Amino acid sequence: MKFYNLKENDEQVSFAQAVKQGLGKNQGLFFPKTMPKFDNIDDLLALPLVERSVKILAPFVEEDLNEQELTEIVTDAFNFPAVLQPINNERAILELFHGPTLAFKDFGARFMAKCLQAFVAKDAKATGQKKPLTILTATSGDTGAAVAHAFHGIDNIRVVIMYPKGKISLLQEKMFTTLGDNIETLMVDGDFDDCQALVKKSFDDKELATTIGLNSANSINISRLLAQICYYFEAVAQLSRAKKDLGDIVFSIPSGNFGNLTAGLFAKAMGLPIKRFIAATNLNDTVPRYLETGEWTPNKTVATISNAMDVSNPNNWPRVEHLLKSGLVENGCVSSVSIDEEQTQSTVIGLGKLGYISEPHAAIAYKALQYSAVDGEFGVFLGTAHPAKFKEVVESILGQPIGLPKELADCASEPILSEAMSSDFADLRAYLLK
Ligand SMILES: *Cc1c(COP(=O)(O)O)cnc(C)c1O
Repeated sequence: MKFYNLKENDEQVSFAQAVKQGLGKNQGLFFPKTMPKFDNIDDLLALPLVERSVKILAPFVEEDLNEQELTEIVTDAFNFPAVLQPINNERAILELFHGPTLAFKDFGARFMAKCLQAFVAKDAKATGQKKPLTILTATSGDTGAAVAHAFHGIDNIRVVIMYPKGKISLLQEKMFTTLGDNIETLMVDGDFDDCQALVKKSFDDKELATTIGLNSANSINISRLLAQICYYFEAVAQLSRAKKDLGDIVFSIPSGNFGNLTAGLFAKAMGLPIKRFIAATNLNDTVPRYLETGEWTPNKTVATISNAMDVSNPNNWPRVEHLLKSGLVENGCVSSVSIDEEQTQSTVIGLGKLGYISEPHAAIAYKALQYSAVDGEFGVFLGTAHPAKFKEVVESILGQPIGLPKELADCASEPILSEAMSSDFADLRAYLLK
C-alpha cells in the first residue's frame, strides 16, 4: 500500500519511505491510500495480541515487510500487555502503561524503532553503504523516554534528545538520560518551545538534515499511529471475552496531539465495532471549541497537571478531520470535552474512592465519560501513563504515598549523562556535526 500526503496529494510513498521521511512536502501528513476493512472481526478478536496485530498491520506494510519480518518486529515491539481493568459495570480502563517507560507511547515508539532498524539494514544491504540516521527530538517528558528506550542499542541509529533544563521532574529526566550508548541527551538552557524551535531549525537546514540523515520520531510518524490501532482491537477482544453484547462501546481518550484518537478512528474504519469516541482535553481546548463553533482558534498553551496534554495546536488533527470528512468514519462519531484542573483533581480522588489509583490524564478521560456517556453505553477510557510517573501530583492530590514500579526505581539511582546546550542553533549544529 502507498501513503499519500494530505496536503500535496501527488506525493505518494511506500511505508518504508513514509517512516524514514516522517513528514511530506509542505509539512503534509502521510495517510494510507486505502483503508483495509475486516469483515471477519470475530476471528481476528479470537487471536492472541501479536498474531492479531500482524494481521491488522500487514495490509499497510506488505510492500516493505514480509509476514515473517513483520512478525519479528511486532513480537519485539509488543512484548508487554495492554490490560483492561474493570472499574464498575459500565466502565473499564485500558492500561497502556506496562511497557518499559510506563506510558502508551512505548507501543508506537518501539514499533517505529524496529521498523526503522529493518529499513536501515535493508538499505545498507541494497546500496552496500551505511547511511547515517539521526533521530532528533524535543521532549517535555514521555516522548523522550519512549523514544530513548525504543532505540537504545540499535546499530547505526544515533538518537539526540533535547529537553528544557530544570523544567521536567527528576524522575522523568532519569528515565531517558541514564541510558548512554547511542542515546545522547542535551539539557537545553531554555524552555520547551526553545527546544522545539531548535528541532525545527535543524530540519530547515537542508545541508545538516541530509548530512546526518535527520528523522524526528514524533507522533506524526505514521508507524507510531499504525501500532496504536492494535490495542483498540485488544481492548475489544478482552471485552468480548468478558461480555456478550458489543453494541455500544465508547472510547474516551485523553488527548494532546490526537495521535491516540487517530489510531482509534482507524480501528473503527477497519471494522472494529466501536460506537463513538470522546476526545477529552484539559484546559487546552482548541478541539472542543472547534467542534462547537467550527472555528479553529488555538489559544496560548497553558500549563496543567496533565502536562502531556498541554498542546493547543494538535499536530494530528488534519488526519482526524480527513477521517471524518471523507466518510471513513461517520461524521458524528467524535465529540470532545474539556476538563478543568479542579475537576481533574476531584476525579483522581473519586477514582481512588472506587479503589483505583489513577493519574491526571486518565482521570480527565474518565470524567469526560461521566459527562457524556448515556445509558446502555459501555465506556472504556485509556490509561496513558502509570500513576507513579506523576508521583508528586498524585501523592499531593490523594494525600498518600504511591510506590515506584521497578522500571522507575531502577533508573532513579543511575547517573544523568546529559550534556548542557545553549539555545543557540549554531551550537547545536556544531554538536550534531561533530
Ligand atoms: C502523549 C500523552 C498523551 C496525549 O496523547 P496524544 O496521542 O498526543 O493525543 C496523553 N497522556 C499521556 C500520559 C501522554 O504521554
